This record gives sequence, structure tokens and C-alpha cells, in this order.
Amino acid sequence: MSALLHLAGMSIKLLVRRTPGFNGGFDEDGERGGAARGEEGNGSSGRQRQSMQPSARGPRAPRIRLAAANCWGGKGGAAMIQIPEYTVEPRVDVAPSTTALLIVDMQNDFVNREGRLCVPGAGNTVPVIAGLLAAARGHGMPVIYTQDWHEPDDPEGALWGLHAEAGTWGAEIVPELAPRAGDLVLRKVRYDGFYGTPLEHELHRRRIDTLIIVGTVSNICVLHTAGSAALRWFRVIVPVDAVSALTEFDQHATFRQIAFLYHGTLVRGSGIVVRAR
Ligand code: ZN
Repeated sequence: MSALLHLAGMSIKLLVRRTPGFNGGFDEDGERGGAARGEEGNGSSGRQRQSMQPSARGPRAPRIRLAAANCWGGKGGAAMIQIPEYTVEPRVDVAPSTTALLIVDMQNDFVNREGRLCVPGAGNTVPVIAGLLAAARGHGMPVIYTQDWHEPDDPEGALWGLHAEAGTWGAEIVPELAPRAGDLVLRKVRYDGFYGTPLEHELHRRRIDTLIIVGTVSNICVLHTAGSAALRWFRVIVPVDAVSALTEFDQHATFRQIAFLYHGTLVRGSGIVVRAR
């Protein structure tokens, strides 16, 4: 079947491959026969199908992929989409008593050129983050770090290769942003800084209602942590020049999600003003 989504000036055609026998929740228009189109041009379909084999008794899962429509380049062409608008505020005032600076995964493996999963733009964010760190410390604002932390047999190693290995140089916070006594450093095993950590408890304990979230990778640990914070009703502020991604698309997608979905505030680092109310 096919469905055309209209998203703020952008049209994307979704083709859903329906495996015979599956009768799940993707039958809005009742159209059949999408399977053939869903197979076209997808060189990895065999591997994907393999990975989505259902259990012996369960239904087969539908497979969804994006296909050429409107501004998409067609078969084999580069995809071009229009980025929905988001607003970067010129200035945001925050109160140090109810705001925390959350620094996500600024560790050697992600930031240093010698790191195992270096994000090329991460180094450029260090001075911005350092400026925010100095402002936070100058005003007594809580500073919290997340630290990706994996044992050698961690399942994330199969996804990305072993990184941020427990106890290694790669897992250390970069020296320019090193934690000090009194800062909170939370080791985490997944993208979401709330997952398996006491972050939520520690924020409530400090009467924090607003998070300035910086670090890397924008669309992975930053976005998951920002989303998780917003779902818990924390106000989220993300300085656009203090987060880094592997691609421009990932960066824009992050900002779009934070602004649109999580009602967060985007601002440049220099636009954050810390002052007591
Ligand atoms: Zn990891």
C-alpha cells in the first residue's frame, strides 16, 4: 500500500511491504499489492527480511521504506528534502537554582581524533561547552555529565564496535571539560541518559526543572536524553553550536525533533544568560 504524508512543506511517500498473512495496523486505504513495489531497488532487502523474521507463531512485521516522491530524486538519485523550519532563539534566560547543565558523552572516544568513534565536529563544540561550564560553575548551577560506559561484552559493541570501554582512556571525559569535585558523573550503557541511571532522581532532589543539554552525538545520545527529559516534563534547552552529529541531516533532524516534538528551546551557547530571578 502507499500513503502520502504531508509534513510542513515536505511530502514523503511511504511504501509498506505487506507480507502475506499479516493483517496489522497499516491498512488505512485497504490497498493490496504493495509488496512488489516495496522490493524494488532495495539492495538490502534480503538482509532486512532475514532480521525481521517473526517468531514461529507471531505475525510478520511490515517493512516500511521511503520511495521517490516530489522532490526525491527518483531511483538511484540523491534524495532531496526540504528541512522544516525551526527557530533558534536569540536569547534564553535561565535561573541557576532550577537549571542544570547536562554534558552528554564528551569523552575521548567521541571527541578526540584518536577516539574509536570520533565525531568530527565534536571538537568544535568544546569551547562553547567550556563557556557554558564556566558560567554554570560561576553561578553555582549543578553540572551533570553522562559517560558512556561499556564492558567488552556489551551488546552495543555489535552495533558500533566496542567504544567507551570501561576504565579506558576512550571512556574518559575530555580534559578540557573535566569534571570537578561536586559535579555528578553518571555512567550509562545506552543512548538515553535516564536509562539505568539515577538522573531523574538526582534532578528532582536538586529541584531542577530545566536542563541545558550539550554534547554528542546530537541525534543519538543527546536527542534520546533530551526526549526522555521532555517526556518527564523537564524544560529542555539545546545550544545548537554545542552539539555535534555525523551528518548535517542528523543535526537538522535533531533540532527539528527537539523544537517540534519536545517543545524544547534552541539557542546558541552565547545566547544563554544565567541569572538569579
Ligand atoms: Zn555506547
